[in-house]
Amino acid sequence: MKPFLEIEEQVMSNRTNEKTVQLDLETYAANDVYKAAATQSSGLSHKQVKERQKQYGPNRLKEVEKEPVIVTFIRNFTSLMAILLWVGGAVAILSHSVELGLAIWFVNIINGVFSFVQEYRASQATEALKKMLPSYARVIREGQEEKVLAEELVPGDLVLIEEGDRISADGRVIFATDFQVNQSALTGESNPVYKNSDADTNAQKTALEYDNMVFAGTTVSLGSAKMIVSATGMATQFGQIAHLTENMADDKSPLQKELDHLTKQISVIAITVGVIFFIAAALFVHQPFAKAFIFALGMIVAFIPEGLLPTVTLSLAMAVQRMAKSNALVKKLSSVETLGATSVICSDKTGTLTQNAMTVNHIWQVSDQYDVTGLGYAAEGDIRKSRGKKAALIESQPLEHLVRFAHLCSNAQVLPPNDGNASYTVLGDPTEACLNVLAEKAGLTLEKNKSWGPRLKELPFDSVRKRMTTVNQVDSLVDGSSLVSITKGSPKEMVELCHFYKDQKGIHEMTADVQARILAANDDFAKDGLRVLALAYRTLESERLTQEEQWTKETLEHNMIFLGLIAMSDPPREGVREAVEKCHRASIRIIMVTGDYGLTALSIAKKIGIVRGDDARVVTGLELEKMSDEALKEALKGEIVFARVAPEQKYRVVSALQELGEVVAVTGDGVNDAPALKKADIGVAMGITGTDVAKESADMILTDDHFASIVKAVEEGRAVFHNIKKFLTYIFNSNTPEAVPSAFFLLSRGFVPLPLTVMQILAVDLGTDMIPALGLGVEPPEPGVMNQPPRKLTDRLLDKKLLIKAFLWYGLIESSLAMGAFFITYLLHNGNLAVLAGSGQLYQEATTMTLGAIIFCQIGMVMNSRTSDQSIRKLQLFGNPLINIGLVVELIIFVTLVYLPVFHDLFNTASLGVWHWLYLMLCPFVIVGLEEWRKRLMRK
Ligand code: ADP
Ligand code: MG
Repeated sequence: MKPFLEIEEQVMSNRTNEKTVQLDLETYAANDVYKAAATQSSGLSHKQVKERQKQYGPNRLKEVEKEPVIVTFIRNFTSLMAILLWVGGAVAILSHSVELGLAIWFVNIINGVFSFVQEYRASQATEALKKMLPSYARVIREGQEEKVLAEELVPGDLVLIEEGDRISADGRVIFATDFQVNQSALTGESNPVYKNSDADTNAQKTALEYDNMVFAGTTVSLGSAKMIVSATGMATQFGQIAHLTENMADDKSPLQKELDHLTKQISVIAITVGVIFFIAAALFVHQPFAKAFIFALGMIVAFIPEGLLPTVTLSLAMAVQRMAKSNALVKKLSSVETLGATSVICSDKTGTLTQNAMTVNHIWQVSDQYDVTGLGYAAEGDIRKSRGKKAALIESQPLEHLVRFAHLCSNAQVLPPNDGNASYTVLGDPTEACLNVLAEKAGLTLEKNKSWGPRLKELPFDSVRKRMTTVNQVDSLVDGSSLVSITKGSPKEMVELCHFYKDQKGIHEMTADVQARILAANDDFAKDGLRVLALAYRTLESERLTQEEQWTKETLEHNMIFLGLIAMSDPPREGVREAVEKCHRASIRIIMVTGDYGLTALSIAKKIGIVRGDDARVVTGLELEKMSDEALKEALKGEIVFARVAPEQKYRVVSALQELGEVVAVTGDGVNDAPALKKADIGVAMGITGTDVAKESADMILTDDHFASIVKAVEEGRAVFHNIKKFLTYIFNSNTPEAVPSAFFLLSRGFVPLPLTVMQILAVDLGTDMIPALGLGVEPPEPGVMNQPPRKLTDRLLDKKLLIKAFLWYGLIESSLAMGAFFITYLLHNGNLAVLAGSGQLYQEATTMTLGAIIFCQIGMVMNSRTSDQSIRKLQLFGNPLINIGLVVELIIFVTLVYLPVFHDLFNTASLGVWHWLYLMLCPFVIVGLEEWRKRLMRK
């Protein structure tokens, strides 16, 4: 065999000219692969790993070339409005108003920088999220199993993969059990393909067709395997086809699309109006062309809502960041919106609603029952205490066997407290961990029990069979046999499969009476919310089932000897009750969908308040299968719990709910949950217990697996939607008072001089309005958001109500106050309105008043906008720092324009007197007062 570095090392140069390596491993026999990849059965040494990492680089795909920052920057200066302003500035300069032209350009630049910063911050926020979910791989190095970052894999690494994993490098399978992968990411074929460890020398095949090779980017649908990495990073098949844009798909949310569309529509209207104003100004008021053009420009700028999109995007991105802090990672901005509209949450039970920290409370056998409650879980004192009771527990043989077998059939480990952890830690399934604890409590030494009955084979648990089986070689004969199979699982099915039972007196044939007693005991436990496992076994020698090939689910899991029931409690997670209560108030329904037994599920559902009535329906997986779509939909209208369902069945529940018009969130963790997660409006994957496949199919990942985090995210989603509405009203609202003055000017054919100049419009639109609007975007959720029913997905953000409110109600109030300010200045000075000077000190004072009135009205408006129907007295008036800053900046800008003479010419402003200020101060109170009155009417 050639040494590693020379063998079929295929050096390719791809677009980036980086050397990549790929090992051709498919033709070797499984045992020879180690050598071919220059490794050994104990895996690479850490030294080798270091060397290869240096040589081949990280196992990572080249990032898609993102738009360079400079391009983003420039884009913000070439939008429609920006171009209009560039042109406007140029026209002004060419028509000898150099200062005005430069000022327009300057404002344009400030605005461009501002929206660039918003866009940049939003993209930084989403970028940061991507890094919060690193992917890991399980490897064997120097004989030890380790969990490493997928990025650190090197060619030759020995990797363990199992159901639900996303494979992170190309590799040659050297060991496989029942192993299937889904290669759709590479081939588009969504049916899983079998893979095995046999050599494949068929030279006709293309790389993807080898049955013993697996590829980065594909997922494991079934079974488990060991592989030797053959290619990493850009050398993988995935890297070569380089679907690099794949997970970058930044599709716009419905909201963003709507705004995009709206911006375009309004821009067209604005430009049309602008053109009409231009013609009118030139023909009827006989303005010079350049002046008329700049005047029209003001109108257009007043109306184009250019800044909306970046502000909305930023406010969504900020929400996503806040959600991440409360343990909900959202993958797309659009999910934030959907979350806010969620009307049903379908939730798993174990681990999401409950702690998944199991304690065995009762053991039930046909002739005896033992209460082991109070022998707490994973608390050392308890274990020691229970050791005192050892004699009592172990004195009967069936009980001894039950406790021993339960432990032998468990894969979990309970680690004692160490320096890192103050309490016991569970590795593996808690349902199994509590069986270990039980064995310890019964006085067994786990090590000794393991060597008393070493395991020869395992038929793993799956959520369809709801049971698992091991084959063990036992030390002291069990019923005269040294070979037993042990099965534990869901009692309902197990009882059917047990044809015998064992009690103090020996083994008996199962009778209908005993069967009924077992099921009754099961129900009694379940009604208390306990999770129940049945335990049974078979002696294999007497049945001539001694060959490994004979040990299958079909041969072993029937005809068994029933040994007992083990009932365990799993308390609700902290905060779940409150979260459920919040959902009820928010008219969000919760439907529990669990693999566990019906009565257990119902009891827990009642305990945490999901089910409140007495006639809640429990539908089992079996019933669900037989139900027609109509019957299912009918059932879904009432209180309902789904029990003993397989994950695949969630899909039907989700679709039926969606057909009923609900916006559905569903939780999941396994491979089989993927279809439901994809189908749901919001697929929620468990971050801790979830598989890669579930995480990939989901829209949101819970880093703490906690139900309450979903509810938190919904609340955030609702708040964002409200906030965006708030700042839209705020921004639109200043448009009317910006346009009305020009209408006065035109309609009076110049008798009323222009009450608000272009620079003044720019000062409001691209100046004083900006920060308060942003502030509205980050308002915390209003106290009432979770007391209202969910929004319908079809509800538009910009409904008529909002537009009428902004343009007509507030718009007209503000316009009246602004025009009033303008005229009153003449009135105070001249005593009448017979002549309105169009230039000079008085005119400048008058336009300053128009501008001032708009700014002061907007100060009142920003406060008004913070609630929709509630009185603002319920708010902390200065509780939003960004709004406070906005208000201060607003005042500084205005005072500067009024009192710094350098700005007087440009902005057509003048110093104001006491009376003027009094008028302006009054404006916010008028607008707040009127709005409080309207809100009170609305509340009634
Ligand atoms: P859940 O929705 O509560 O997570 P599961 O699908 O995990 O439900 O479990 C369904 C049923 O399968 C349980 O009620 C239990 O009877 C059985 N079961 C769960 N875990 C195991 C296991 N590790 N070994 C054997 N049986 C199990
Ligand atoms: Mg489970």
